[in-house]
Amino acid sequence: METEPWYEEGLRFLCTRCGNCCTGAGTVRVDEAEQGLLAEHLQIDLAHFQKRYLRSLPDGKSSLIEKPNHDCIFWEREQGCAVYAARPRQCRTWPFWRANMATKGHWDSAAQGCPGMNAGPVHDAESVARTAANDGTSGIVPDLQEWT
Ligand code: SF4
Ligand code: SF4
Repeated sequence: METEPWYEEGLRFLCTRCGNCCTGAGTVRVDEAEQGLLAEHLQIDLAHFQKRYLRSLPDGKSSLIEKPNHDCIFWEREQGCAVYAARPRQCRTWPFWRANMATKGHWDSAAQGCPGMNAGPVHDAESVARTAANDGTSGIVPDLQEWT
């Protein structure tokens, strides 16, 4: 028998646009389709986009690069995300990432840095699970001790 997820009542989330998840550090994975959309959005060709905005990850995939202060290359302090309409899936699916959905402890830990979590409208368990299954991340769930 299938057991209900710990978030069976759904989860509240409404982004405040504080920018915490776009600044500081992190990896923003972009697959080839997302690279194409971003290049189109920026009106540059794909090869130029890849050379200018991507770095390689240890698993051979690609991430957006960061500014010297570790902010995402597309984060603008005054205006927010400069590519919002074409932002990668990983940015669209936060906070319903597999790593956050693994346990309530993982969710609570992530919520410490995201004021939008546990606020706003309820997202039902089915849509949360659907989003997490295709979140655009590596899918690796860190040990909760490392996560906190
Ligand atoms: S940290 Fe949370 S509330 Fe802040 S911009 Fe990111 S998703 Fe929105
Ligand atoms: S692409 Fe946009 S939404 Fe995604 S991390 Fe960078 S600034 Fe934030």
